[in-house]
Amino acid sequence: MTKIEFLKEDEDKLVFILKDASPALANSIRRAMKSLVPVLAIDYVDFYVNSSYFYDEMIAHRLAMLPIKTELRRFNMQKDCICDGVGCPSCQVSFRLNIEGPRIVYSGDFVSDEPDVHFVYKDIPVLELFKGQQLMIEAVARLGIGKEHSKFQPVSACFYKIIPKIEIDDRCNLCGECISVCPRNVFVLKDRIVVNPLDCSLCMECVKCCEQEALRVSESNDFLFVVESTGAMPAKKVLIQAIEILKSKAENFNKTLAEINV
Ligand SMILES: [Zn+2]
Repeated sequence: MTKIEFLKEDEDKLVFILKDASPALANSIRRAMKSLVPVLAIDYVDFYVNSSYFYDEMIAHRLAMLPIKTELRRFNMQKDCICDGVGCPSCQVSFRLNIEGPRIVYSGDFVSDEPDVHFVYKDIPVLELFKGQQLMIEAVARLGIGKEHSKFQPVSACFYKIIPKIEIDDRCNLCGECISVCPRNVFVLKDRIVVNPLDCSLCMECVKCCEQEALRVSESNDFLFVVESTGAMPAKKVLIQAIEILKSKAENFNKTLAEINV
């Protein structure tokens, strides 16, 4: 049965093994984490005063890249909101700024309408204002998904590799050749050769060098995942949300199939 074994669980980083799964399932989970889990990002900016050296568009683009702490239960997707997508406190939040130079504007200088909703990092430089320059803006954030625009991705890194199955049979004479050729130190000699398949990059040097032909490397049904969050939400939450989204998609698919009369 397919299951998940966690190797590392930080707020920002998750390392886990997806056991006994197909490549299609592993890839669906990866794609769902990157492109289907919604997070907040700046999507619209009103410029009241901008006498900086930067065009409005350049500043708006930089703001869109700043990750925002996202509590999903708190906001609706704008298309599903009671306001019919016009924009209301249930589906968007404003960040205001009014600063005069000379000084550097940081992400932490923005004042959010909702104290719980703020940029993840307060020390990201946005632009430098020189003497006599002013920036007065209102930036509006809303929920979106990575499929729509990469600024809505909750993860900065999200990848997996197939964990190889390394088998050594009785023909092994403990010559240790595989230990010396392996660039990833997968093999260790104790009473017998012990393998650590998580570090293997499938280069097959061990198979080529083994004169006894005692080594076999093949693909297993296990996948090693590494997920790094942008900070918008904990990495484990991204995984849980992705699996929930896949479940509901699968249920809808089954429902549609059941409705087909042949
Ligand atoms: Zn709304």
